[in-house]
Amino acid sequence: MSNQLVLASGNAGKLSEFQGLLQDLQIEVKPQSDFRVSDAEETGLTFIENAILKARHAARITGLPALADDSGLEVDFLNGAPGIYSARYSGTHGDNAGHIAKVLTELEGVPEAQRTARFVCVLALLRHGDDPRPLICQGTWEGRILAVPQGDGGFGYDPIFYVPEHHCSAAELPQDIKNRLSHRGQASALFRAALSDWLSSPA
Ligand code: IMP
Repeated sequence: MSNQLVLASGNAGKLSEFQGLLQDLQIEVKPQSDFRVSDAEETGLTFIENAILKARHAARITGLPALADDSGLEVDFLNGAPGIYSARYSGTHGDNAGHIAKVLTELEGVPEAQRTARFVCVLALLRHGDDPRPLICQGTWEGRILAVPQGDGGFGYDPIFYVPEHHCSAAELPQDIKNRLSHRGQASALFRAALSDWLSSPA
């Protein structure tokens, strides 16, 4: 495999996160925009399907190995919603206040014990567009949905995600602690640990 990898995302924050993560492995991470790759349609019904769809799209167009991630919030009382629709739950992409308001309305009156939830992050890496055996790493972060938002750090659903070990919301956690505990942190750690073995096995 070449030492270049394309990241199937237009998010600058994710790009620098993955560049940092893979720097010492001598892997150069390039954004898909460098190759004029547009966003793939996320037509899957699971985080895994969507991560693979995005990575496959970028790998096919660029001819390079491609990495994609997909993440979101799963609320047990809502049968796993917002799930893969986390970024557009209230109807408007990225309207975090609207998404939070919708979840809180749907959980109105639901007792604490039934408000269990988790963040999920899936990373998918394909050696090439037809790779039949992608590397898939999944991280989860267990918590509970608060009745009222708390804290103003983080992003997305962080203000309503209660972290029991720290007795606060994800929006009240220092960034380094969130990175260590979070679904993304856990998926990234698994990914790093699996990568060199996986890269040296041909597909
Ligand atoms: P993406 O697929 O990584 O862009 O994430 C999809 C959506 O899931 C985001 O727009 C957020 O609403 C939500 N999400 C993912 N990770 C987090 C997190 O760490 N905190 C809060 N919300 C998150």
